[in-house]
Amino acid sequence: MERSNISLIKNPLLDEKNIEVSVLRDDLNHPIIQGNKFWKLKYNISNAQKKGNSNILTFGGAYSNHILAVAQAGKEFGFKTIGIIRGEENLPLNFTLKTATELGMQLHYIDRTTYKIKHTQDFKDYLRNIYGAFYLIPEGGTNYYAVNGCMEIIKDSSLYDYVCCPIGTGGTISGITIANKNQSKVIGFPALKNGDFLKDEVHSQINSVTQDEELTDILMESFSLQTDYHFGGYAKINEELINFVREFNSIHGFKWDLIYNGKMAFGVFDLIKKNHFPKGSKILLVHTGGLQGINGLEERFKRKIYE
Ligand SMILES: *Cc1c(COP(=O)(O)O)cnc(C)c1O
Repeated sequence: MERSNISLIKNPLLDEKNIEVSVLRDDLNHPIIQGNKFWKLKYNISNAQKKGNSNILTFGGAYSNHILAVAQAGKEFGFKTIGIIRGEENLPLNFTLKTATELGMQLHYIDRTTYKIKHTQDFKDYLRNIYGAFYLIPEGGTNYYAVNGCMEIIKDSSLYDYVCCPIGTGGTISGITIANKNQSKVIGFPALKNGDFLKDEVHSQINSVTQDEELTDILMESFSLQTDYHFGGYAKINEELINFVREFNSIHGFKWDLIYNGKMAFGVFDLIKKNHFPKGSKILLVHTGGLQGINGLEERFKRKIYE
């Protein structure tokens, strides 16, 4: 896999505010096992191989980047994959699930109530009865191995004053915060409403790696959340967000997904406008990929996001 590159963004706002913004283009690291999903799967795949598992089972919503990434990883690395999908089957399949099945993933739908108890032993036993032994990757792919993979996303965060990253479960930013070693300030932008709980979540994920409460507290001193850029909640979008990503694409020539990165980038530029960052600040935005999700939004809202 190629190391993705870092590009410097230029525009009049940044000149005026004297702020340097760079983007780590992890949307370029793989067409399907894209962005942070590549790093989250890296050690899960090698661990599944080492354990001799031939099946990988995981969970996700119908538009999940993680589901598609696991399907592709199964194809590339020779695993049979089973996707436990929240909600009922909707035909024809949307882009994500259609592609996942074409890659060989077997889909198993469960209702939302059952989905809530998906990590109980009883439910896992039920699944083992149906599918036999499998390597389980949790929803969103976040576990100990995922956080370790995400520690490799940024080579040297000492080059920046701020590192900004979108958050779903918090696994990605936990890895980034560990690898950061307090060199820069890490700012997380939750893609969902009432994201304050993610601070505890990130704390516990970091602690699962450090196994040291005191060290975890020290690492967390560089971590903060900006919880106001969820645009109404997970997978909610509006015209302001669409206009932002379109304009950004026309100026800078690359796309943000709207579920995660568009909201983060909107938030960063809004904070720049509001003089949140001191003059001369260097900011790195981590583009976590997720571009396949644009198809799902276009299907749901029956319109083009990017013209
Ligand atoms: C899954 C995903 C996230 C969220 O990552 P977490 O590790 O769950 O916080 C962010 N961006 C994109 C594009 C994703 O697909």
